[in-house]
Amino acid sequence: MRPYAAADIDTWDLTADVVVAGYGVAGAAAAVEAARAGAEVLVLERAGGWGGAAALAGGFIYLGGGTALQRACGFDDSPEAMATFLMAAMGPGADAAKISAYGEGSVAHFDWLVECGVPFKPVFYGEPAWEPAADEGLMYSGGENAHPFDEIAEPAPRGHLPQMENKRTGERGGGYMLMKPLVETAERLGVKAHYGMRIERLVVERDGRVCGVVARSYGERVTVRARRGVVLATGSFTYNEEMLAAHAPLLLDRPGSAIEEHDGIAVKLAQALGAGVAHMDACEVALHMDPQYLIRGIMVNARGQRFINEDTYPGRIGQAALFQQDNRTFLVLDEEGFEEAGRVSAAPDVLQLRPAWVCETASELAAETGLPPGALEATLEVYNGHAEEGQDPLLHKAARWLRPLRGPLGAVDLRGMTSGFALGGLTTGTDAEVLHVNGEPIPGLYAAGRATAGIAAWGYASGASLGDGSFFGRRAGRSAALNG
Ligand code: FAD
Repeated sequence: MRPYAAADIDTWDLTADVVVAGYGVAGAAAAVEAARAGAEVLVLERAGGWGGAAALAGGFIYLGGGTALQRACGFDDSPEAMATFLMAAMGPGADAAKISAYGEGSVAHFDWLVECGVPFKPVFYGEPAWEPAADEGLMYSGGENAHPFDEIAEPAPRGHLPQMENKRTGERGGGYMLMKPLVETAERLGVKAHYGMRIERLVVERDGRVCGVVARSYGERVTVRARRGVVLATGSFTYNEEMLAAHAPLLLDRPGSAIEEHDGIAVKLAQALGAGVAHMDACEVALHMDPQYLIRGIMVNARGQRFINEDTYPGRIGQAALFQQDNRTFLVLDEEGFEEAGRVSAAPDVLQLRPAWVCETASELAAETGLPPGALEATLEVYNGHAEEGQDPLLHKAARWLRPLRGPLGAVDLRGMTSGFALGGLTTGTDAEVLHVNGEPIPGLYAAGRATAGIAAWGYASGASLGDGSFFGRRAGRSAALNG
């Protein structure tokens, strides 16, 4: 992982002003902005084509503050409300400077995406769901309209989705519809890309300035000189077992919501130059169940107790399940709830799990599921009693979703039904400069996307990754282009 000294490189095989490692969302945004700032840009991509995890993604981009899409859908928002929400929901430990810059620049960033050709359909999708039913462009995607955030900041939907065609993941899904126009824009601006090119080391001048990379392409070593700067945009460490074991062990042996190229190389290479890291234990966590079911029932842990308001962002429920409830949770719902959710759900079958146990009474259900005697019964008694009065004083689920659960009850077995990706990474400044552990920028080195610790420090909202990856990716490209 140690950098090479520039003096030891005899010949440079390739040269550009700005060298971008990784052609996912952060790399594409960096390439566009570096080229627009007048730099000659070379992207090195380990895979056989552009896209990264971004092209497979659902496509949520977390934006707000009053974007044209929000306004077209009839929603008011402000940068202040957005920043207040993000500081509360992305924490603890959210980066105030990054979030403030992100909130301030969000409207312009949306316009930039549109200008690059990313399509958005001005239709709001208001149902509880992981994703919209079809190609709707705007959704709540972080629990903004649920407890406690609805009282902390004025709620507004901020999940912006590129218009999909038939939701065909990897071909016409939201992430692909984001990536394709960005890459086409980069190509129009003259950005060159080399595929099958995996960066392995950084190269530094005697004064410490990063001036290139060494890559491997089909077994051959390739030296690449960067006249102005190197941008690391190679994704997270979700597929590096050693790093997961050291930093985010609860993700080990879980399905990773990423691609295997996310091996943490950027973090390691920059750490070898003294870079700092942050929030390495934070993870996005998906719970494999449609929110239409979650919201109508109660989520209980292995003690038969509720632990979260079921109407919040399902990723928040997933994080609570994995990190605080030992990944052992159950959804309890009555027949009416199952039937109603089944009627309105637009989710794929894999997210519409059937109950593993159905019983006439709560006691029988508790016995079948192995919950401690009396616990589920007590939970239901308290929940139902309050629900009859339209209240949830324990966890504050909104009144419109409260209804006593009666009659035959079913329990969906959600033990182990989570997956996720690592959120931690390199410490960067608001201009995407990689920061040394002493707080100073490492000259010539920039980073964005999930190689960095972005706006999500612990909590998460759908869209935070494509959002901060594209936003700070642009800054990384621009900073590198204007360096020196
Ligand atoms: P990527 O987009 O993955 O790009 C990194 C690129 O670097 C890759 O192309 C990779 O091949 C390349 N690379 C890696 N190592 C090297 C190397 N050594 N040399 C050269 N190149 C290298 N996030 C959201 O915000 N909204 C969503 O709706 C959403 N949905 C998702 C759905 C799925 C199924 C998955 C898997 C993820 C989803 N995510 C979503 C997460 C999001 O896709 C990623 O967090 C995001 O793409 C990270 O951006 P990035 O630029 O850092 O990485």
